Amino acid sequence: MEASLLAIQDGVVWTRNYQRIVAKTNIVDVCRLCGEPRETLSHLLSSCKFLLGTVIKNRHDDCARAVYYAVAKKIGLLESEVRWWVKTGVHAVLENDE
Ligand SMILES: [Zn+2]
Repeated sequence: MEASLLAIQDGVVWTRNYQRIVAKTNIVDVCRLCGEPRETLSHLLSSCKFLLGTVIKNRHDDCARAVYYAVAKKIGLLESEVRWWVKTGVHAVLENDE
């Protein structure tokens, strides 16, 4: 597990761009999911059109939800802690008694 995380951190992931540039294979490095040029780790994590509406959006929403709950709890707008992985909708407006 740790080795996998370090590999990802170093960008050593078997993407098509990695295969073409680093491993020097004779491969066209278009994305296997969306067909755009340069299937890199960055492309897969943040800009692949195939993943934008699903995986990337869900990860974004999870991160935003974690920040929302942490800030709301810290400034006293939530009495109890809500775990970020709980898939509840966030309130449009939170108010306290002040
Ligand atoms: Zn793609």
